[in-house]
Amino acid sequence: MKTPGHVLAKQVEQIKESRIFDVRSDELPTWCPGCGYFGIHQGLNNAIQQLGIPHHEAVTISGIGCAGRYPFFTNTYGLHTVHGRALPVSTGVKMANPELTVFAVGGDGDGLAIGGGHLPHISRRDVDVNYLLFDNSIYGLTKGQPSPSTPQGFKTKASPYGTTDRPLNATLLALSYGASFVARLFAGDPEGITKALVEGIQHEGFSFFHLYTTCLTFDKQFKTWEHLKSWIHPLPKEHDPSDYRQAMDRVLEDDFSVGILYQRDG
Ligand code: SF4
Ligand code: MG
Repeated sequence: MKTPGHVLAKQVEQIKESRIFDVRSDELPTWCPGCGYFGIHQGLNNAIQQLGIPHHEAVTISGIGCAGRYPFFTNTYGLHTVHGRALPVSTGVKMANPELTVFAVGGDGDGLAIGGGHLPHISRRDVDVNYLLFDNSIYGLTKGQPSPSTPQGFKTKASPYGTTDRPLNATLLALSYGASFVARLFAGDPEGITKALVEGIQHEGFSFFHLYTTCLTFDKQFKTWEHLKSWIHPLPKEHDPSDYRQAMDRVLEDDFSVGILYQRDG
């Protein structure tokens, strides 16, 4: 059902008045009302403000999909590139101008399918890029097909009997590939996102942020807000992010603990 025009207009006014667009562009996000991406947007914008990064010294680079539209909505330099190529383009931008703070953004479909071959190489090269993977476990923009992180048995119009493939775990991949900063976060917790981003942006090396989010329009089965809220919990206080083996154990044992899992300097 379409949202009536006057309701949309009111929502737009509320959004304009809120602080989440302090570093936004003049373009209002075209994401569905209630999409988890708004929480990530707020978290990232607050981190940029907290660190006082001038807008002209930051660049946001995306692939495709709903997350691919991100550069239009934030007031940094931006590139909306092609399917799965946010990471190599980010590497090139960082090489050309190392003074820039570089954000690569993209969804699970974009970054784990056709783009999945770039994650190991940016990790092993330890390029100083901040990669935000918006993982809602579905292709949202193309109306709800299974992605590489969709759980087995998930029914869509493209998989009416349920998916048969096993899902990829993006956090586990990044750790395995040797990413030097790995955080797992929840789109419903913008403050937690800001906290981790502030650390990760200052980290000198590749920083990977696996953001659990929801596509409330096309996922009524798995990652709904209700499900995510009941599953997500913080990492235990005693977790030591400098301990690689501990980080791996946590990820293998528990899919939904959030926080900074791993950080290696030098
Ligand atoms: Fe968000 Fe899904 Fe709408 Fe895309 S289709 S904007 S992921 S809710
Ligand atoms: Mg997706």
